[in-house]
Amino acid sequence: MKLEHIGIAVKNLETANDLYALLLGEKHYKTETVESEQVNTSFFKTGSSKVELLEATGPESAIARHIEKRGEGIHHVAFEVKDIYAEMERLKKAGFRLLNEKPKRGADNKLVCFIHPKSANSVLVELCQQITE
Ligand code: ZN
Repeated sequence: MKLEHIGIAVKNLETANDLYALLLGEKHYKTETVESEQVNTSFFKTGSSKVELLEATGPESAIARHIEKRGEGIHHVAFEVKDIYAEMERLKKAGFRLLNEKPKRGADNKLVCFIHPKSANSVLVELCQQITE
C-alpha cells in the first residue's frame, strides 16, 4: 500500500489553504465538496503523496465532531489499494473493524473505506482506490 494522503481537519479552509500554500511553497491544485460527508476539501501535492484539508459544511459532519472533540489536526491517513473490495475482505478477516460495509464515494474520484481507530492504534485509516471510468 502506498501512502496516498494525510487528511487534516481545519476550521476554515480558506485560511488553511493560505497557510499550507506558504508551508509547502505551492498552492492547492483542487477543491471539492463531498455532500454526503458534509465536507469541503482541498488538495496539495507533496511528492507522490498529498495533503487533504477538510472543513465541515454542517454540524453533523465527522470533521465538525472531530474539531469539537480534539480541535484541528490530523484526521486520517489514507493508503491507496488496487482492489478495495479484496482489501476490505482481507482486513475484516484479520480482525479489523471497518466503518463502512461497502466502499463509498469519497473526494478526488476515489472509492473509500475507513478502518476504526480502535483497530489501528487510534489512527483513523482510509483505504482508497482510484475510480477508473
Ligand atoms: Zn482522505
